[in-house]
Amino acid sequence: MKVIRSKAAMQRLADRLRSQGRVGFVPTMGFLHEGHLSLVRVARKRCDSVVVSVFVNPTQFGPEEDLEAYPRDFGRDRRLLGQEGVDVVFRPDAETVYPDGFATSVLVERLTRGLCGRTRPGHFSGVLTVVAKLLNIVKPDIAVFGQKDAQQALVVGRMVRDLDFDTRIVVAPTVRERDGLAMSSRNFYLTPEQRRQAPVLYRSLRLARRMVRDGERDAASVKLAMRRLIRRESGFRIDYVEVVDTGELQPVRRISGRVLVAVAAHLGRARLIDNIIMRA
Ligand code: AMP
Repeated sequence: MKVIRSKAAMQRLADRLRSQGRVGFVPTMGFLHEGHLSLVRVARKRCDSVVVSVFVNPTQFGPEEDLEAYPRDFGRDRRLLGQEGVDVVFRPDAETVYPDGFATSVLVERLTRGLCGRTRPGHFSGVLTVVAKLLNIVKPDIAVFGQKDAQQALVVGRMVRDLDFDTRIVVAPTVRERDGLAMSSRNFYLTPEQRRQAPVLYRSLRLARRMVRDGERDAASVKLAMRRLIRRESGFRIDYVEVVDTGELQPVRRISGRVLVAVAAHLGRARLIDNIIMRA
């Protein structure tokens, strides 16, 4: 497994890998867990070589967010990726990605207004700009993203379509802990007590699914029941509880067809998100 820090070297190697077969790419911010590794396995299965990037992208963090504190352990990441048979780890530093004079930003309209976009202004432009750059450097056949970050996966897919990137975006299912908590590098911030409380977010999503299965179609009732359940655990500051359509992520009033039920909440130092897609 090669670890590469320069853009030029990554581009040269990616050109060579592409001439030998299909290239799969998994962008990450490191501090890897089974969720990340599941994306690597999807890429491994579908491609001849796999490139993983490890880059904590400063431009997707707001001024009050956890850029400095974001957990990092490259030694461990490297070992895990080696065990998964990854061919190349691209690990640029911030100056390589954003050299002096960098002035460009990618914006996807509408889809980024609601959900996480509302309370994290600039976040998705930060994500899109770095993903656009990474796709241009690696030029993979497929890039794999996680359903855990549903809005991110959708927004990246729209950028790729709108800007004619020659890469297919593949979305892989959310990997959970045994008690249902969606795996996340940010779970590291939770105290043992908060870790015990955190699975209520997934329980609230399951409650929504049960209600809809039992015939509830009013989104407001579902959201209210979810909020009540989450509030039973102390310490949560809910960012949003939403039911949106899966195309444009617009809130729905009546639940019919395919909808995304999504939740975001702060718990201690962590901001946790989770979602499920369901069909009424
Ligand atoms: P991050 O390192 O948090 O930027 O995540 C890198 C990629 O891993 C993104 O595509 C995430 O959606 C994905 N990912 C993170 N957590 C999970 C999870 N629990 N299950 C599946 N994919 C995940």
